[in-house]
Amino acid sequence: MTQELVYLDHNATTPPKPEVCEIMLQTLKFPGNASAIHKAGREARRGIEAARQQVSRLVNAGPKAVIIFTSGATEANNLVLKGSGCERILASATEHPSVLKARPDIETIPVLPGGIIDLAALDRMLEGNDRATLISVMLVNNETGVIQPLDKVMEIAKRRGALVHTDAVQAAGRLPIDLQKLGVDYLTLTAHKIGGPQGTGCLVLSNCVSVTPLLSGGSQEKNMRAGTENVAGILGFGVAAELAARDMTAFRKLAALRDRIETELKKIAPAIRFFGADAPRVANTTLFALPGASSETQLIALDLAGICVSGGSACASGTVKASHVLKAMGVSDADAGAALRVSLGWNSTEKEVDYFISKWSEMYNRVKSRLSAA
Ligand code: PLP
Repeated sequence: MTQELVYLDHNATTPPKPEVCEIMLQTLKFPGNASAIHKAGREARRGIEAARQQVSRLVNAGPKAVIIFTSGATEANNLVLKGSGCERILASATEHPSVLKARPDIETIPVLPGGIIDLAALDRMLEGNDRATLISVMLVNNETGVIQPLDKVMEIAKRRGALVHTDAVQAAGRLPIDLQKLGVDYLTLTAHKIGGPQGTGCLVLSNCVSVTPLLSGGSQEKNMRAGTENVAGILGFGVAAELAARDMTAFRKLAALRDRIETELKKIAPAIRFFGADAPRVANTTLFALPGASSETQLIALDLAGICVSGGSACASGTVKASHVLKAMGVSDADAGAALRVSLGWNSTEKEVDYFISKWSEMYNRVKSRLSAA
């Protein structure tokens, strides 16, 4: 990545912090297989166990929890949805595709127009339920930043006898997470959203539950994730987790910059719509649409100015697909196709935000006449 880029796509991935790069480089230079009994192996094992504690502390997982390191959140979500042993899976309609596509028989829980899960609908879906059921509801949505009321989901789950999984990928380091208080059975994290490396994540199992592994082979990670551990990645994850806990107050101050983007864009283009803005949200995310201006047009104009943002949902094979999250929130295809997500991160600056606002404003002035004619 070049220095000139103004990178405002931290929900897609956030750059690794310097301390993370340092520990990873050291580890890569002196690799050990954590299953080996010699000194290099023991060093690797010690590093992994220290990282497990660091990750555990970020979410206050407590002494009974089991943390299984994986290749990221996609694997962790698949591991729990396929391996929990539950017959029925209910997932909110705004989950990440790694949840929604993990099984063909997933039943989706609707969300209200603001992006919050429809709790009454969830309760109705569980009426008279006598099958082993897992509810999967993310703590924070990656497109809107909307925070789901997990405590209320837990109340329903307890009353109806269901287990709960939460994908906390976009919540970690942004909100305090207390797994022991929250009481969910499974929680997913990934390193590259908190300043750690890509390709490392974990599934946290509370209450000493276990899952059926996805992979066959070695007995690593308590027989739940076969394969030589990614030692450098896991150590980087550990350091990132510790820094994310330390830097949470600073992260939450990003709300001022995010709010400035929203205020200024609204002044420039009064017709702009912000999604999820009336619900509780994390500090760094804004998702909006300028009706009539396609996501692609905006993305290309901003890309030419060296600004990296996203069209709401990730681009697949170079095209921008209308977001399933916005569709679930009842947004029209036309507005969903005009969505743009700006997500700030640990190294975002006021100067970058001002630059984004000025370039967006230039783009708006170019397309304005076409918008009013439409
Ligand atoms: N869950 C959420 C909410 C995400 O935002 C992402 C990443 O975009 C994932 C899961 C997948 O994470 P990973 O890239 O570690 O597989």
